[in-house]
Amino acid sequence: MIPNLNIVPFVSVDHMMKLVLHIGVERFLTELADYVEEDFRRWEAFDKTPRLATHSAEGVIELMPTSDGRVYGFKYVNGHPKNAREGRQTVAAFGVLSDVGNGYPVLMSEMTILTALRTAATSAVAARHLAPPGARCMAIIGNGAQSEFQALAFGALLGVRSLRLYDIDPGASEKCMRNLRGRGFDIVPCRSTEEAVEGADIITTVTADKQYATILTDNMVGAGVHINAVGGDCPGKTELHRDILMRSDIFVEYAPQTRIEGEIQQLASDHPVTELWKVMTGQAPGRRSPRQITLFDSVGFAVEDFSALRYVRDKVAGTGLYENLDMLADPDEPRDLFGMILRAAKPAAAPARIA
Ligand code: NAD
Repeated sequence: MIPNLNIVPFVSVDHMMKLVLHIGVERFLTELADYVEEDFRRWEAFDKTPRLATHSAEGVIELMPTSDGRVYGFKYVNGHPKNAREGRQTVAAFGVLSDVGNGYPVLMSEMTILTALRTAATSAVAARHLAPPGARCMAIIGNGAQSEFQALAFGALLGVRSLRLYDIDPGASEKCMRNLRGRGFDIVPCRSTEEAVEGADIITTVTADKQYATILTDNMVGAGVHINAVGGDCPGKTELHRDILMRSDIFVEYAPQTRIEGEIQQLASDHPVTELWKVMTGQAPGRRSPRQITLFDSVGFAVEDFSALRYVRDKVAGTGLYENLDMLADPDEPRDLFGMILRAAKPAAAPARIA
């Protein structure tokens, strides 16, 4: 992208917004979904580990690394449900891609917006394999920062046209409706989760609460529904009643991480789950029958962030929508790092001459 190997392209929040507008959000989500699916199909090429999470009473800070042997990527991300009350994002992030051959970064990017896009794209990719064919109506429980991205991804990838919204804060649902106006959705704001899930083919739960919450109870989930459970993504932070899990066929990103963080932390450690990549590569079935309840227990995995950074690297080239970061020291002689500092010292200014 840039001839000087010591300069790292950096995509700021401002540039990311411009890139999304330049590409178009639905096209961005659709193309990003293809990158995610492409990487899930070559799952075995990736170095995988559950993310490294540092927990506190208020939230979590996580590092999410992976590599395909040629490119290395990581994301730094937090999850602080109380942040919204203080005017901050619940989830904020940035990430890096590097060349495995020399270890030098090749891209640095904001990932707060990119995480919302990749989470929604991954949810829609999963639903493409698991949701009932012809699903058009989706309930979204939790109408915060992620919600519009989820709606737009399901609209673009699955043809969802009808949305039923519920949030404990009606202002959040109003914001979501306002932002989605004119995008071809028929939107119904609801007064309860029970009301929102009525007639929905897909139920997305994307709430933020640091507890074992029960956003959905068993009686709310009818036969044939696909559940896209996004908000339960930390130890002690879940959204679904355990009985729903017992009735569902459960699909996950990377089982060792989801067993720690996902809805399935409520189940025995040997409860059967299917990794999504196996469905995508035809090694395991996705939806098998119209009455089956499918559950995508999403927690967010490093490979999705890798796909998102890869997509941004490819799309940003030639747009000028990045800054050049002077991030890597480059002395003329690599071992003369200290000499480079000495040479940077400005010669003392000559004393002014008095006429
Ligand atoms: P946010 O704080 O912007 O929005 C959360 C919304 O949920 C708020 O509007 C809140 O009022 C609502 N809510 C809380 N409890 C509720 C309840 N009982 N019923 C209905 N609504 C309720 O947060 P966000 O950025 O939209 O993130 C939402 C969740 O998704 C968080 O838990 C976050 O950690 C998670 N997340 C998961 C992934 C993933 O890959 N799985 C990625 C990003 C975010």
